[in-house]
Amino acid sequence: MSKPVIVYLNGNYLPIEDAHVSVLDRGFIFGDGVYEVIPAYGGYPLRLKHHLQRLQNSLDAIRLSNPYSDSEWTDIINSLIDKNEGEDQYIYLQVTRGVAKRDHRFPDGNTPTVFVMSSPLLAVDSELLKNGVSAITLDDIRWRYCNIKTTALLGNVLLRQQAVEQNAAEAILVRDNDVTEGAASNLFIVLNGVIITPPKSDLLLPGITRDLIVELAHHHQLACEERSITPEELKQAEEVWVTSSTKEILPITTLDGKTVGNGTPGKVWQNMFTLYQNNKAQLRQGKDLNA
Ligand code: PMP
Repeated sequence: MSKPVIVYLNGNYLPIEDAHVSVLDRGFIFGDGVYEVIPAYGGYPLRLKHHLQRLQNSLDAIRLSNPYSDSEWTDIINSLIDKNEGEDQYIYLQVTRGVAKRDHRFPDGNTPTVFVMSSPLLAVDSELLKNGVSAITLDDIRWRYCNIKTTALLGNVLLRQQAVEQNAAEAILVRDNDVTEGAASNLFIVLNGVIITPPKSDLLLPGITRDLIVELAHHHQLACEERSITPEELKQAEEVWVTSSTKEILPITTLDGKTVGNGTPGKVWQNMFTLYQNNKAQLRQGKDLNA
């Protein structure tokens, strides 16, 4: 029999079935909260400091004070990894503005709600890595603070659903003349041999995977630029990738029904994928080289 899933809620560790939040929680009523997703390999969270810094940035952006210090967060995350199953796991944590009478304005002196869970992280399906996946481009209908990792994800949900209904794994978003990111991922293209990803701004979430890939590229002297990408460049790209903590680096081989490059994952992707896996292998031995 598998072990019960243990989660953390407001200071307590308890089985997921016993974890309850009030219907008046502002996370439920308004989507008034922020979150993080942190992969852990062999029990070691990847780039934990970066994730905790991004959490702090999101909390600052919504003017909610951080309920815990980095060392308290680290203890909770490590405890949940210990208590739950999976050689590799991903930690989901969320902080909301807590329970209050329904009113848009911030409540006075509220206690935030803190919820953390850990789930098994399965390796990305090898078929997807062999053949790549398809994506479609869609107009970026989201609000203007896409750099905040908010739980208010309705725009992302609608965009991803539209992609799924068109048999695509991801929606790649276009705002004005900028290709920004995926509905739940960051975007890279390879154009004339150069790896390109849009610069960080309020148009996109500053992905931890994105930053790691940019650093790996620089470290290994691969040509890599952070600059805006136009829809025209996206169409011309030899390779297109989307990246996230749980999907790592997925090659897009069909875009809007047309083949990307020669229709198989490209050589630059292959190289970067290997570098990324090597980085994970080191982490499994307790060496987070880029912590
Ligand atoms: N952009 C969006 C909109 C996301 O939701 C995510 C995470 N799912 C990412 C980018 C990738 O971020 P990370 O690499 O930190 O998982």
